[in-house]
Amino acid sequence: MKIFNTMSRQKEEFVPLEEGKVSIYVCGPTVYNLIHIGNARPMIVFDTFRRYLEYKGYEVNYVSNFTDVDDKIIKKANEEGVDATVISERYIQECKKDMSDMNVKPATTHPLATKEIQGMIDMIATLIDKGYAYAAEDGTVYYRTRKFAEYGKLSHKNLDDLQAGHRDIKVTGDLKEDALDFVLWKPKKEGEPYWESPWCEGRPGWHIECSVMSKKYLGDEIDIHAGGEDLIFPHHENEIAQSEAANGVPFAKYWMHNGFLNINNQKMSKSLGNFFTVRDIAEKYDLQVLRFFMLSAHYRSPLNFSADLMEAAKNGLDRIVTAATTLKRQMDATQVEAMSAEEKALFDATEDYVKKFEAAMDDDANTADAVSAVFELVKFVNTNASSDNSRMYLQLLYSRMNTLCDVLGIILEQEEELLDADVEALIQERTDAKKAKNFARADEIREELKNRGIILEDTREGVKWKRA
Ligand code: AMP
Ligand code: ZN
Repeated sequence: MKIFNTMSRQKEEFVPLEEGKVSIYVCGPTVYNLIHIGNARPMIVFDTFRRYLEYKGYEVNYVSNFTDVDDKIIKKANEEGVDATVISERYIQECKKDMSDMNVKPATTHPLATKEIQGMIDMIATLIDKGYAYAAEDGTVYYRTRKFAEYGKLSHKNLDDLQAGHRDIKVTGDLKEDALDFVLWKPKKEGEPYWESPWCEGRPGWHIECSVMSKKYLGDEIDIHAGGEDLIFPHHENEIAQSEAANGVPFAKYWMHNGFLNINNQKMSKSLGNFFTVRDIAEKYDLQVLRFFMLSAHYRSPLNFSADLMEAAKNGLDRIVTAATTLKRQMDATQVEAMSAEEKALFDATEDYVKKFEAAMDDDANTADAVSAVFELVKFVNTNASSDNSRMYLQLLYSRMNTLCDVLGIILEQEEELLDADVEALIQERTDAKKAKNFARADEIREELKNRGIILEDTREGVKWKRA
C-alpha cells in the first residue's frame, strides 16, 4: 500500500513501525460549536482509511483528541455566562452524535487536552532542560524555534523566509527572544481557566497538546499523523519541533493531510461564515449521503460542496442500497439452496471488482476509484442475480458488497421492516395531520413510508397501502 507523505511530497510504500500494527493520531476539533462539514472531511476520510487498514488485517490504534481549552471556548462560555467545561462538554457530545450519524467509528481513545495538563508540563520542562524552550519574565514559556535545526521540514518552509514574514508583525513589548518562537505555556487572564505550573498559573499552547496526547496514547514514535492541510503549518511543524526535541526520535513516519472542503471554491470555515453544519445537512439528507459525497473525491483534492453534487451522491448511494435490498428480497424468495457450478464461476468473476477496489485503496486511499469498483459490482449484481438463483449465490454476492461498503462506512442493511401495526399507526398520524392542515407532516409520512417500501393510495374508502 502506498500513501502520500506530506514530508517527502511523494507516495511511499507503507511499512508500519511494528508489523501488523498501525498507530494513527488525527488532530480533532476545537469544541465550541457544532462541527461544520469541513471539519467532517478529515473525520470521514481518515475513518475510511482506518477501516481499510483493519480490512487488511492491521490492528489499528486510532487516537483523535478534542481541543477543549481555547480562546474561542472561553469566549463562548463568557457570552453564555457559564463555565468553559459546560461549553466543551456540550459540543463534545454533539460532535460524537454527528460522528455516529456519519458512521465514523469512535477512536480507540479520544483524549481531552484539559485532562493531560501534567504531561504537557512535563514535556515543557524537558524542553527547557534541553535548551529548546525558555520562560520569559511574565511566565510565558516559548519554544526556541531556531534551535531545532530541522524546523520547516514538513511544510518545506525556510527559516529566513519565515523570519522576513515575521519582521513586520513583531510587536513591541514581546518577550520572545526571536520572532519565530512560539508559545508552549501562557499566563492566565482574568476569568480564564488555569492550571498551576512551575512558570505561572496558566494554560498550554495548542501545539503542545497534540505532542503530549500522541506520546501518551501512541508512544514517542508513531506511524501516521493526520489532519486537514491547514494544520501543516504551523501546527504540525511545531508538533514535530516539540516532540522530536523532547523525545529524541522521529515523531511520525507518515504525514497525511486532507484537502479543503470548499464552497464557491473558497475554504469552508467558521470565520468566513460560509459554512453548513453537519446538522444543517442532516435536516435534508441521511448523513450516509454526506459520507458518500466526501468519498467521491480523492482526500487530497479540494472538494467543492454543491447541492448538485449532494443530489448525485444521494442517487449513487441509492443505487448501491437498492441493489443490496433487492438481493435480500431475492434471498427471501428463492426456492434453491445450493450454488450451481455456473453460479460459482459467476461469483468468482466478481473477484475482479475486489481487486480493483483494493488497488484503488492501496493507491493512497483513492476512494473515488474504490467507489467506481463498487458501482461495477452493483452493475454486475443487477444483471446477474434474480430469485431464480440459489440462496447461497445471492448470499455470497450480498456479503461481497457488504464487505466493500463497510470499508467505505456505507451501511447496506436497511432499517427493520415496518410491522403492519407500525404502518397503520403512521397512516393514522398522517390522516390526523391532514385534518389539522399540517400537510407538510402528512407529505413527510408518505415519503418516509415510500422510502421504506410502502405505497399509499388515497381511496374513497380511506387509505389503502401495499408493499412495493
Ligand atoms: P478546527 O476545529 O478548525 O481545528 O478543525 C478540525 C479539523 O478540521 C482539522 O483537521 C482541520 O484541518 C479540518 N478542517 C477545518 N476546515 C476544513 C475544511 N474547510 N476542509 C477540510 N478540512 C477542514
Ligand atoms: Zn493537533
